[in-house]
Amino acid sequence: MADPLQPYNSPVHRVLQGLFDRHRECRDGNVATYIPELAKVDPEKFGICVATTDGYVYEVGDTRHPFTIQSISKPFVYGLALDDHGPETMARKVGVEPSGDAFNAISLGEEDGRPVNPMINAGAIATTGQIKSADAAARIAKILETFGLYAGRPLDIDMAVYESETRTGHRNRAIGHLLRNYDVLTDDPTPAVDVYFRQCSILVDCRDLAVMAATLANQGVNPATQQRAIRPEHVESVLSVMASCGMYDSSGGWIYEVGMPAKSGVGGGVLAVLPGQFGIGVFSPRLDTKGNSVRAIRVCADLSRAWQLHQFNPPYSAHSSLRHAYTAAEKHSTRSRRQQEVDCLWDQGRTIRVVEVQGALSLATTEPIVREILKGLAGLRSLIIDFRHVMGLNAAAAAILADLAGQLRENAVCVLFTGAAQLSEAARALVHRFGDAAAAEVFRFPSLDAGLEACEDALLRDVFAETEPRIRDVGEYEIAAGMAAEERAVFESLLTTRHFVRGEYIVRQGDEAHSLFLIAKGVVGVWTGLLVEDARRVASCSVGMMAGGMAFIDGQPRAATLLAEDDVECAVLERSDFDLLQQSHPAIYARILRNIAASLAAKLRLADMHLEVLSCRRG
Ligand code: GLU
Repeated sequence: MADPLQPYNSPVHRVLQGLFDRHRECRDGNVATYIPELAKVDPEKFGICVATTDGYVYEVGDTRHPFTIQSISKPFVYGLALDDHGPETMARKVGVEPSGDAFNAISLGEEDGRPVNPMINAGAIATTGQIKSADAAARIAKILETFGLYAGRPLDIDMAVYESETRTGHRNRAIGHLLRNYDVLTDDPTPAVDVYFRQCSILVDCRDLAVMAATLANQGVNPATQQRAIRPEHVESVLSVMASCGMYDSSGGWIYEVGMPAKSGVGGGVLAVLPGQFGIGVFSPRLDTKGNSVRAIRVCADLSRAWQLHQFNPPYSAHSSLRHAYTAAEKHSTRSRRQQEVDCLWDQGRTIRVVEVQGALSLATTEPIVREILKGLAGLRSLIIDFRHVMGLNAAAAAILADLAGQLRENAVCVLFTGAAQLSEAARALVHRFGDAAAAEVFRFPSLDAGLEACEDALLRDVFAETEPRIRDVGEYEIAAGMAAEERAVFESLLTTRHFVRGEYIVRQGDEAHSLFLIAKGVVGVWTGLLVEDARRVASCSVGMMAGGMAFIDGQPRAATLLAEDDVECAVLERSDFDLLQQSHPAIYARILRNIAASLAAKLRLADMHLEVLSCRRG
């Protein structure tokens, strides 16, 4: 219903409303009467629902009117049986071939009596008979509970429809006995057929169908409740039999025209699944001669055309998920370093490669990344694959990335996957491909910057052969550059030494600034954000560099927190001492000021380098 205060309607809703208006006058077909109670449904009822995989439901028409699920129960019970027994056992009980026959045909294999698929009655009764439970009451309770997980609410049975089908369902009973005859059912078939009648009489509404479909679209997890209704590995089996056998003997025409896995029932419902996207439910009780709801078929066909939903017409071909590839010679980490170290990174940074990837990683989107990495292996010391912008990753993508990483590691290349923490389940698929020890190494840096910094450190350690870099002479500080010996002596006399233990705050964001810190030993992290939860490490400074220069110069409160990341030793210059220099030693004062300006300029340059690399990103 449009909200009078809200002049705009969702364009998605407007399409559904348009379809509802277009087809509501259609009165072709007839309600099912072979189950006498079904003849009583109001043939005019009509509802359309689309449920997204993030839990939103669009509804038009009679979407809350209850009706019996009938054959739409079949794929869900098949999924339950797969969860109970696995695909091999189930394959011995029921096939997966479309029959081309009517839903109630007695399509059993000639030799073994195995029903051809679980979507026809014979296959469905055989499937229901497999559900593990103590007795028939427990079995239907288990089915009801599972359906409730799919729908996200408890469901009930319409006892009038159940009793009506029990009185008239002789053909289904006959099928049950045939299944018993072939030992497909190994016990008295009566309870299995009775549970089947009950499962067909479960009451749902159009909205439930859409949410149940969205649960299948969402790998078996109900998008609203986040509860799992079926094991993820069985979803594709359920969708496959829906795609080939879900629409009675018009399944071929349906997949040809509408192109998505679906199931209909003689109660008037149709449920269709767009894997990974959304679920559709349509309800209208008048059926065509095959037993499919006339309006529902038309709505789904129109919707498939309008929204280009046909599964064999993917919206775009798989593109490479390569977001950006560069080396540490083109972009350094945010660590500010002494000039000789920066020069070394310009010179040898190409031995550290960064590959930023994005989107959903499948074989098709990951293969070009692998090719890109293989192009630049000469002299490679470190490879960082950054996952910050990855939405998900399937097992095939994980396998080829892990294989490549394994080969590189065997050749002593350091491989790091950064930014993978947010990927949760998907990343675990990748983590599992490494042994525990290897995984701890490969995933040890949550952020790309930290990973890059560590790779740079390793390179610099090798080049400068310094195990524990530290300042030995005051002239090595960047802000003492260019000072004569006697100037250095004056400068040194102003400095006091301070030590900070690992994890100690040196200054806090917002503090008044009185001092400048020159790092003699250790690494200082620069963090912004006043609360722990939004704290971000935006840069770091190592030996020889100054920290806290901005507030020292402009007298504003500290813009960032400085944190000792190792045991840190600093030479501290107090502003009051510095100010006195202006009178006593103006040349030294000017030198320091110029060097502070140069240091800040270098930081700006580093920031520009980051921006430039960001702005030429693909995608
Ligand atoms: N309970 C119905 C039957 O077995 C289901 C039929 C259907 O929806 O196709 O006859």
